[in-house]
Amino acid sequence: MTNEAWQSPIAPGISWYQATAGERPEFPALDGSLKTNVAIVGGGYTGLQAAYNLAKAGASVTLIDGCRFGDGASGRNGGQLGTGQRWWPEELEEKIGYERSKALFDMAERAKRHLFDFAESNAIDIEYVPGQMNVAHKPGYKRAYYENAEIAALRYDYPHVRFMDEEETRERLGSKRYYCGVRDMGTGHIHPLKLLAGLAKAAHEAGAGLFEMTRATSIRRVGGKTLVDTAKGTIKADHALIACNGHIGNLEPITASHVMPIRSFIGATAPLDDYPAVLPGGEAVADSRFVVRYFRKSKDGRLLFGGREAYTADNPLDISRHIRRQIAELYPALKNIEITHAWGGTVGITLPRQPFVREVMPGVTSIGGYSGHGVMLSNYCGKLFADQLLGRSEELRLLESLNIPPFPGGARMRAPLLFLALSWFALRDKF
Ligand SMILES: Cc1cc2nc3c(=O)[nH]c(=O)nc-3n(C[C@H](O)[C@H](O)[C@H](O)COP(=O)(O)OP(=O)(O)OC[C@H]3O[C@@H](n4cnc5c(N)ncnc54)[C@H](O)[C@@H]3O)c2cc1C
Repeated sequence: MTNEAWQSPIAPGISWYQATAGERPEFPALDGSLKTNVAIVGGGYTGLQAAYNLAKAGASVTLIDGCRFGDGASGRNGGQLGTGQRWWPEELEEKIGYERSKALFDMAERAKRHLFDFAESNAIDIEYVPGQMNVAHKPGYKRAYYENAEIAALRYDYPHVRFMDEEETRERLGSKRYYCGVRDMGTGHIHPLKLLAGLAKAAHEAGAGLFEMTRATSIRRVGGKTLVDTAKGTIKADHALIACNGHIGNLEPITASHVMPIRSFIGATAPLDDYPAVLPGGEAVADSRFVVRYFRKSKDGRLLFGGREAYTADNPLDISRHIRRQIAELYPALKNIEITHAWGGTVGITLPRQPFVREVMPGVTSIGGYSGHGVMLSNYCGKLFADQLLGRSEELRLLESLNIPPFPGGARMRAPLLFLALSWFALRDKF
């Protein structure tokens, strides 16, 4: 089946990314048992970066994914790199103090640099467009946005964020629905599936053993080794990485209690040639709602708009209708615009919305739960996992030391409790 027509078994819709990614390498399913130094479960950015970096260093590495690489969040996301962590640095300061907040901010800057360097050195055209704006949907947020730009420059050595008043915000968005914002020209947005496909190709060329359509059914430790079971064979490894993110299911209980799935949906409009006022500068946008609306223009002039979430496994019947309604709220002139592509993906979140990194059994590390802020961080965490195993760096410990707590409620109650909590916060966006 061609890439353009491929329907992922774990996510609804065929994305605009699929339609435009070009050649997406395909890999065989695992057929038989094998031994390897490092086994990796999950072929998104985290797993593939780990495989790439380990293989490049000469390690024997085997990576399996239950679907095609990129069927998880890595091939279907909003493509916004952002800056820092999921929280603004001043918000993090309140939770963990300045020193650790600054260390995490600097780490995210290294992650950004790493992504650019990786794409350039492997000649991957990620279609980078500079510029990202965070915008306030309520007038009362003005002071916080003003201070955000100031704090970034003065306390975080990051001079690229500038405050925008209401008039500038309206002009740069082409929408009257926001009251102010900040514009960050030190970051931007990319084509996520092109990055993913280029990464898979690079990992393959570096010598990693890559297998698609191969689901891990269990992971266990036996006699000092890790055994990863699949339908047609077992992988015996010295070390293992679980990089399943929001798709962890029942594979490993510690990860499952710390990383929960929520689903987010995106629509692509027909090209906006007749609407030059919409995002004339080409920046990406994320707003201040709890259910964040995130949007940007594609290279071919479409509006790629995300904003609907779901907290259960059911897919909305008509993703396009919801997305078009949200677009029309911000851009009334687009109320009848054609939605040419509509799709969804699974975001892995943690309770404090910070990444989860933990050794969940001897020799088995689990990484995920970037909470909607993983494009640059997941790529970097995959590399840091490899660095740690190769004895090159302990930087990953910075995230491990966050000691992410589990979701409350135990295996039976945590999904319904999360549903209730998220639904409540989502409701507050309406007032
Ligand atoms: C709609 C959407 C919009 C987003 N927008 C942004 C954004 O704009 N900016 C940003 O920074 N982040 C965004 N994110 C988040 C970002 O995409 C993720 O944080 C990142 O891609 C996580 O990568 P990953 O490799 O850890 O996980 P994933 O890409 O989710 O990969 C996990 C993989 O594990 C595989 N797997 C799971 N279980 C098994 C098993 N048992 N056996 C074998 N394989 C298994 C899955 O098939 C999947 O391919 C968004 C996410 C979504 C869904």
